Amino acid sequence: MITAIYPGSFDPVTNGHLDIIKRSAKTFDKVIVAIAQNPNKTPMFTIEERMDFLKRVINGLPNVEVDHFDGLLVDYVKEKDAHVIIKGLRAISDFEYEFQMALMNRKLDSDIETLFMMTSYKYSFLSSSMMKEVGKLGGCIAELVPDAILPDVLKRLKSV
Ligand code: ADP
Repeated sequence: MITAIYPGSFDPVTNGHLDIIKRSAKTFDKVIVAIAQNPNKTPMFTIEERMDFLKRVINGLPNVEVDHFDGLLVDYVKEKDAHVIIKGLRAISDFEYEFQMALMNRKLDSDIETLFMMTSYKYSFLSSSMMKEVGKLGGCIAELVPDAILPDVLKRLKSV
């Protein structure tokens, strides 16, 4: 049984994330979408809100779970008895940082593999931060965010 961990901020989950989640769920026995608590980032949504959004959008995918963690990703991966980390790649600009992280994680634990999944073409420009920026300025985000959470995201963007 192969369990893969898909870590990220998911602030909030976008259709780009959801695409990677669905494709990972077809590839691995179990996928845990794990929200990383990054003390260097100030999120728009709390951990609880981000967990709730993720749970709503993975509804119907029986082998996907949602969780959160703090501390080192490799420690969390071991705790879950997993060996695979999934990362999405959108553009060459993602590559350098992800390459460095993957090598650092391998140095920390050589049993853990980082596997990269290419973005789908139609989401290659999409990040949570870009979506929030556009939404705050009144641009249409309907195709960028899953329908199940769109009203809540729009409400928050209007209030900031
Ligand atoms: P962001 O705030 O940039 O959307 P996250 O930290 O939530 O990023 O991203 C978590 C993971 O999802 C990362 O591996 C990131 O590369 C990947 N990801 C984010 N958006 C997309 C997308 N549109 N297509 C593919 N992968 C993505």
